[in-house]
Amino acid sequence: MKLNELTIRQAYEGLKNKEFSSVDLTKACLERIKERNKDINAFISVFEDSALLEAAKADKMIADGQQQILTGIPFAVKDAIDTLDLRSTGSAKILDNYIPPFEATVISKIRAQGAVLLGKNNCDAFGHGASNENSMYGPVANPHDLTKVAGGSSGGSAAAVADHQCIFSIAEDTGGSIRQPASFCGIVGLRPSYGRNSRYGIMPMASSLDTVGPMGKTVEDIAILMEVMAGQDTKDATSVVDEVPKYTENLNNKNKFVIGLPKEYFEAEGMEAETRKIVEDKIKKIQEDKNLQVEFKEVSLPYTKYGIPVYYIIVPSEDSSNLGRIDGVRYGVRSEEAKDLYNIYAKSRGEGFPEEVKRRIMVGTYSLSSGYYDAYYSKAQKVRTLIIEDFNQAFAQVDLLITPTSPFTAFEIGSKKDDVMAMYLADVFVSPSSVAGLPGISIYVGKDSKNLPVGMQIIAPRLGEEKLLNFASLVENV
Ligand code: GLN
Repeated sequence: MKLNELTIRQAYEGLKNKEFSSVDLTKACLERIKERNKDINAFISVFEDSALLEAAKADKMIADGQQQILTGIPFAVKDAIDTLDLRSTGSAKILDNYIPPFEATVISKIRAQGAVLLGKNNCDAFGHGASNENSMYGPVANPHDLTKVAGGSSGGSAAAVADHQCIFSIAEDTGGSIRQPASFCGIVGLRPSYGRNSRYGIMPMASSLDTVGPMGKTVEDIAILMEVMAGQDTKDATSVVDEVPKYTENLNNKNKFVIGLPKEYFEAEGMEAETRKIVEDKIKKIQEDKNLQVEFKEVSLPYTKYGIPVYYIIVPSEDSSNLGRIDGVRYGVRSEEAKDLYNIYAKSRGEGFPEEVKRRIMVGTYSLSSGYYDAYYSKAQKVRTLIIEDFNQAFAQVDLLITPTSPFTAFEIGSKKDDVMAMYLADVFVSPSSVAGLPGISIYVGKDSKNLPVGMQIIAPRLGEEKLLNFASLVENV
């Protein structure tokens, strides 16, 4: 096995036993990036020099007996997450030159352990998209088939892990952006509960939905990362005060689980038969496994069909407000043609935002405007409550829910790019739980006849990550 192919746990053990150094491990990842980035395009920025310095520093920490679980482990960060003194574009040209003077809390926590930051991952601009084709730095190719998308919006983060260009990555999930690309690329990705991890330093998209979470190769690695990332932060008033459970100590416990299978998710329109079958086969295998005590129950979430409409009102509304801060005045790229104040705004935004971002700003401005607010934004918030109640009544009967992560596997680059509705519908299984603030994980369950990975989603009640990760660790190898 090559060093860049290791999991966090394996890399930690190897570093501890002095089988290799962090510099060796970092070089292996940097070489892989160099070899593959022109084809896959998972990185917008690579910080080779600083990564090697950080690795040397980590090796010293290890030699001095200060190794922590992430010391010396190379990782990558979605470019919509701010990294101190290191370029963060959000995949939009308006921030092409942006060097944040501060850093996301979750990234600082990871780097404080001595993890090595390799670079920043391509994504849909500011997280808007489901295929990574809304990046102003080009699409990301799926490592399993370069003619297919990697998913989105965190396509670069998923592809970088799947292609072994880094050991793990950190990304953002507002409405599926961690889970769907994880599914398309055959890795593990967790959207934590709303409020579980601090969003300070995450470029805001829809503030009432945004979350930041880990992407990795195994459930154990995800649990390791959540233990480091989670917890209250005074810089994010929505971060919850509850103590962070010891996720890694609660993996592989063979507890009894009652699992709900929401019928609306298996009967959805546009669901590929083969994808459904691969998820159903996995469920059957879990059922037949004599070592597990899992009971399955059909449940109903009747408001599922409103997940997408509600999401695509609330998100653009909050987006249109959040993106107002990016105007070419105090930071970012100002249009060279702008000669007066109005044009500083209009031309800088016109040139610096891609089409999808402009579309959301327009839709959101409309749905928040007086006369339409009640009909759209306010109504969407009411239906959001009904979606939350749907989940509440399901979780009164079951511990967790299992669904496919996506109705289909990775599609051809370019095939949905101009069909906005088709692209929005890709979020059908990931938007309802996002709207409800729930945690969800996507794990790899097999490949279809096109040799493309299929992901299975497990959804838990709010702040139910411990149970979620325990169950996921039990079934990932079934
Ligand atoms: N596909 C979703 C969207 O375009 C995902 C967004 C996200 O989670 N960042 O809004």
